[in-house]
Amino acid sequence: MADVLIAGGGPAGWALARACARRGLETTVLDPAPHRRWRNTYGVWSDELPGLPGEVIAAAPPVTVAFGTREHRLGRGYLVLDNAGLRDWLTAERVRVVTGQASAVEPGRHGATVTLADGHRLAAAVVVDASGPGRVLSGGAPRGPRFEQTAYGLVLPAAEAERLGPGAAETAVFMDWRGGGPSFRYQLPLGDGSVLVEETSLARRPGRPIEELAHRLRARLTAAGLRGRFSWPEERVRITLDGPPPGRTAVVPFGVAAGLVHPATGYSLAASLRLAPRVAAAMAGAFEAGPPAVVRAASKALWTPEARAVFSLRRHGLHVLCGMAPDERAAFFDLFFTLPPAAQRAFTSGREDLPGTAAAMAKLFRTAPRGLRARLTGLRPAHNGSG
Ligand SMILES: Cc1cc2nc3c(=O)[nH]c(=O)nc-3n(C[C@H](O)[C@H](O)[C@H](O)COP(=O)(O)OP(=O)(O)OC[C@H]3O[C@@H](n4cnc5c(N)ncnc54)[C@H](O)[C@@H]3O)c2cc1C
Repeated sequence: MADVLIAGGGPAGWALARACARRGLETTVLDPAPHRRWRNTYGVWSDELPGLPGEVIAAAPPVTVAFGTREHRLGRGYLVLDNAGLRDWLTAERVRVVTGQASAVEPGRHGATVTLADGHRLAAAVVVDASGPGRVLSGGAPRGPRFEQTAYGLVLPAAEAERLGPGAAETAVFMDWRGGGPSFRYQLPLGDGSVLVEETSLARRPGRPIEELAHRLRARLTAAGLRGRFSWPEERVRITLDGPPPGRTAVVPFGVAAGLVHPATGYSLAASLRLAPRVAAAMAGAFEAGPPAVVRAASKALWTPEARAVFSLRRHGLHVLCGMAPDERAAFFDLFFTLPPAAQRAFTSGREDLPGTAAAMAKLFRTAPRGLRARLTGLRPAHNGSG
């Protein structure tokens, strides 16, 4: 019987598997396709993961900019991850891999049994649900229309991407709201001579249809002078932003399944990579006290009082963003990207930085013009059809 059985071999599951194995726990990762390539293009702020090994980084653009109504050169580095390098790094420890689809878990006093879709059963002292948005062992995917971030992207040769603005091969465009529509341009050099250009709807309930974003992206490329059938490799993004808040479960949820998605930005990867060693340490420390104690210890390590409070503030941020009209968003992001980098970092990445998050939000409020101020408090009714 394994000490730890992790259902889900995405980046979060593997980050925790690595950390558990390093703590001396016998660890198994269970996934329906454990060797399938990770296809998402992952970006993180470099200050979120200092000391990341070079082989995990595909591109570190020397310049990162953002546009509200005007250009802001950002004082933080943005990295594009190399998914093969990330996987090699996370899977280097001794971990057993099982191919299979978890469908149910039966917790007991001395361990838990996971039933697979094919009827097989696997026992472990502690079970982790790292199955992503499906949360297969910790309550299932949330029901009903959700707040979602959606995007549609194409991977262009750099020479083609240059038409959207000079320096495409060495500049990351974190967001570009110019043009007044409900979505923005996200643009990343991928480190291999190609550039991802993505039309992104930041937050909307339900998510803006991806086909609509594809249409908007093609129109943007056509307006920039690109011609043809746009048959470059594509990326489709759908991220639930309002997954359920942390609750009691009989297993240890981790990654997206644990609600680690930033409600206002959709990011979760850096948080999962950062938190894995802490959660593994808490689990290893409680092992002698039995499975329920391990689950409690992991939950305590993930959801400190500061993390819960910041989560609530970020949720408020999500609702405020969703209520804004497109022109208000451009003005809002002009204000946001004028904040000092430390304040920007606190809001986007300070998962437990309660004073920093609150101070960043207060500063935005103080500097906002009157109409936007009312919006930031949530007192002004939401604009219809934003997104
Ligand atoms: C196209 C795209 C781009 C993104 N870009 C970013 C980004 O730049 N930065 C960022 O922070 N986030 C990004 N995200 C959000 C992204 O979901 C997460 O960052 C990341 O993939 C979550 O990792 P995870 O391991 O928690 O979940 P997932 O990556 O969803 O992994 C879940 C794993 O569980 C497995 N699984 C599912 N069901 C079962 C089952 N029944 N039994 C066993 N295993 C199961 C799946 O096969 C999968 O391997 C992006 C998302 C998308 C779709």
